[in-house]
Amino acid sequence: MIITSLETFILHVPVTRDGIADSTHSITHWGMPGVMVHTDSGKVGYGFTGTHAHLKSDRLITSCIEDCYSELLVGENPLETERLWSKMAYHPPLQWVGRAGILTMALAAVDIALWDLKAKEAGEPLWRTLGGVDDAEVEVYNTDGGWLNFGLQVLVDDARRLVEEEGYQSIKMKVGKEDFTEDLRRVEAVREVVGPGVKLMTDANGRWRMPLALEVAGRLKDYDVQWIEEPLWHDDVCGHVELAEAIETPVALGEMLYSLAQFKEFIACRGVHFVQPDATRLGGITEAWQVSDVAHAAGLPVTPHAGDMAQVQAHLSIAHPGINLLEFIPWIKDCFVEPLRIEDGKLRAPEQAGAGTTLIPVALERFSKPVS
Ligand SMILES: [Mg+2]
Repeated sequence: MIITSLETFILHVPVTRDGIADSTHSITHWGMPGVMVHTDSGKVGYGFTGTHAHLKSDRLITSCIEDCYSELLVGENPLETERLWSKMAYHPPLQWVGRAGILTMALAAVDIALWDLKAKEAGEPLWRTLGGVDDAEVEVYNTDGGWLNFGLQVLVDDARRLVEEEGYQSIKMKVGKEDFTEDLRRVEAVREVVGPGVKLMTDANGRWRMPLALEVAGRLKDYDVQWIEEPLWHDDVCGHVELAEAIETPVALGEMLYSLAQFKEFIACRGVHFVQPDATRLGGITEAWQVSDVAHAAGLPVTPHAGDMAQVQAHLSIAHPGINLLEFIPWIKDCFVEPLRIEDGKLRAPEQAGAGTTLIPVALERFSKPVS
């Protein structure tokens, strides 16, 4: 099989309740800059990354794919995933201008499309191509009830609904209000409504500085919180190490790290307890697998962040022995030929061949934005 062309797309898909916010971002749509990798066999690989749905920066990602990665891939065998990953990631002119952000998100979209092709060619779901077994059990936690812009009643009602009606045993809520005592009141209210048996995660999205992080994160232990996610600025290794040593609640992070090297540093310094690679921000499945290996070898649980809303990383989670908990948000699932299925808070293994990324035509028609 030979790659004949790369065709990019940008989708902007509406989020829950016309808009959500955490301590750092307010969005109305989820952005999906992505690529269709065409081959001489007629098979097409689909890959995408996840963004703020900001068209100008989404176009930087798709133009990187079209202008820089396309010429490296046309004429190549798409099944040689690792070799092609290295060819793109270590291409000297590109390495010079970026080893994080636009370059790796574009690389992620292409790498995912290549893995999609590889699994389609094998006639099996990607988790099987990656070595997964039928009876792997992956718990799923839902983040879509805990947004910071939701009032207390909506927050509590959503937490109750997710647990009592949808069967989740793990949920995440945002923190990082202007007044931190409000955060504590909200966490207390959610803990009270879901009861002691449900895992409750909190996420500050990099908002706090050290004194406040020590104060607030130090008090989360009173509510039996599973982890505090991104308490400090994303790149602050020493700060996370200091905080992790000072508080009882474990620290989770990784969604804003763009390379294996960054993860290795946090892991080696013990600045993270729950490791959260995101295949759509790292360079795809290839690099997310490497991060998961390093974390697993260090004895740390791997819980992928869902820049893909879990659609692709479901496969990674089934296949990798270090992953047994996966984030899920339902915004984009109906864009795909095989939407992710979750029952009673557990992932149902995808059945169709590929990475689960094949878009339905109506999603392309309805949510597409012009790539240039
Ligand atoms: Mg987060």
